[in-house]
Amino acid sequence: MRRKLAAGNWKMNGGKAELDGLATLCAEHDGAAVDILICPPFTLIGAAAQQAEGHALAIGGQDCHASEAGAHTGDISARMLAEAGATAVILGHSERRADHGETSDDVRAKARAAHAAGLIAVICVGESLEQREAQNTLDIIGGQISSSVPDTATGENTVIAYEPCWAIGTGLTPTSDQIGEVHDFIRTRLEKRFGAGVGRSVRLLYGGSVKPGNAAEIFTVSNVDGALVGGASLKVDDFSPIVSVLEGAANAS
Ligand code: PEP
Repeated sequence: MRRKLAAGNWKMNGGKAELDGLATLCAEHDGAAVDILICPPFTLIGAAAQQAEGHALAIGGQDCHASEAGAHTGDISARMLAEAGATAVILGHSERRADHGETSDDVRAKARAAHAAGLIAVICVGESLEQREAQNTLDIIGGQISSSVPDTATGENTVIAYEPCWAIGTGLTPTSDQIGEVHDFIRTRLEKRFGAGVGRSVRLLYGGSVKPGNAAEIFTVSNVDGALVGGASLKVDDFSPIVSVLEGAANAS
């Protein structure tokens, strides 16, 4: 039985003032039947982890370097994230792939580093609109899964987020059938590569314009174990209802 996960990606947003919302989130969901993860900018990780201490809220980074240490100005290692209080890190987000030219090979190396530092790697995959329209979605996702997920993956240390690039921050979402098709495909790929034990225990999140109003429908789709939420994770009034809907789905399953 996979424990459901609601993850928030603040991207390059938020400051100290936004950390107050974490206290509310903790208060509203303590003892929740689901896992909750917030990934703020690097500068807030330490303070966020302090706020979350003693509560069922985990804090994560949004990227890490593949090396443990070295001459990499402006980068951060997985061990540094862990030391700051993070227990997870988002890797291979489409914005990193687009803005920083990250390849799936880069993502795999980063995920390996995250695992070595004891972090959960939340590995993102997703097709562009052109790729979907050309009916290449499953080929693209299959390639990204093969190359981005390292052999060190287990159900405990790896989460995969399916995030169609065209649904991120646009208000557009795929149909339930489209989400289900990709999630079932990823599950089958993982089972083939890692065996049924690991393949069935890795959690699969959907990400892309998840809001309180569409969460319930998305969470009924097969092999959707939760969500990676961008814009709606910035305000507790938007994110908290999404967590509540996920709790309802967890209790019903
Ligand atoms: C994201 O960037 O991971 C994301 C899912 O963003 P949004 O929810 O804003 O579409």
